[in-house]
Amino acid sequence: MPVPEQQSPPTPKCLRVGVTGGIGSGKTTVCRIFQSMGIPVYDADTWAKWLIENDPEVKNGILDLFGPEAYNEAGSYQRAFIAGIVFQDPAKLAALNALVHPAVERHGKSWHEEWANKGAPYTVKEAALMIESGTYKHLDYLIVVTAPVEVRVERVLRRDQTTEEQVRARINQQITEADRIKFATFVIHNDGKRLLIPQVWQAHRLILKQTLVQI
Ligand code: ATP
Repeated sequence: MPVPEQQSPPTPKCLRVGVTGGIGSGKTTVCRIFQSMGIPVYDADTWAKWLIENDPEVKNGILDLFGPEAYNEAGSYQRAFIAGIVFQDPAKLAALNALVHPAVERHGKSWHEEWANKGAPYTVKEAALMIESGTYKHLDYLIVVTAPVEVRVERVLRRDQTTEEQVRARINQQITEADRIKFATFVIHNDGKRLLIPQVWQAHRLILKQTLVQI
């Protein structure tokens, strides 16, 4: 009798999960909980800063846009100098974003592939601007962390050296909570009343179920 050909079992797909939310909503706090459960987390802001200082293509693009003053002699990015320009020039801000955002996307993609090859069931990417930039379209699952504006203002004032006016200005520049939630696969309510860990755990369970569906 012919021996049936041995087939290796299908590999579950490693899902891409995004965590987003307004300033002070608790994205980083939620991501720390995912991390404590062993899920790899990609912090888009931190990597963007790293790429600006270390990726030759991004660095050259920034030098072309802003000139040699964009970096000091030691190669450190001159954030205050650039901020002073882009604050007054929306076209320059758009050009800077058009350089940095795709670089973070490329880097995040290969970071995800590495974890997929290591057998991670899913990875989490934390970013403040996921809906506005359209990068949410590359995700399998989008978690929106939400909290009332007053709670967010209070938390940011406690955390950062800033003023209430500046925090409210940042909030007003961002899309509204209601609009953000429209894009969510899962909403985590971080209002200080509902417990955070059980909500993250519930999201984790749902995502794991989803990885099985994708086999
Ligand atoms: P940003 O967009 O400004 O980076 P974020 O959305 O990542 O903010 P966090 O940094 O996680 O928000 O939270 C803002 C502040 O509020 C932090 O100091 C954090 O420790 C605190 N915080 C977050 N969630 C809670 C909570 N449930 N109870 C008490 N403090 C909290």
